Amino acid sequence: MPNYTYRCDACDHAWEAFYSMAEYKKPCTEPCPECEEMKVQKAVDGFARVQLDTNHDWTKTKNLPGPFRERMNKIADGLSKTDGAKSRMHDQYK
Ligand SMILES: [Zn+2]
Repeated sequence: MPNYTYRCDACDHAWEAFYSMAEYKKPCTEPCPECEEMKVQKAVDGFARVQLDTNHDWTKTKNLPGPFRERMNKIADGLSKTDGAKSRMHDQYK
């Protein structure tokens, strides 16, 4: 499940939120939980960076911790079968 980091421009409060894939694509409509301003920014999170980095050569990434490996396999399952990234990642993490 995607994990977003949000930051408030008004009071600089930062927090994390979890969303389903459907909600993930929607713009943030929640006010800041601290000051209730609507000046909320989405920060780039690890999940988004990993998705953008599917051209990375995962076979050179060794000794990953189990939870990270499981997460990567879940991401690989969501990738297009035609771009080669899925099989490349599964070769690494099986
Ligand atoms: Zn705030």
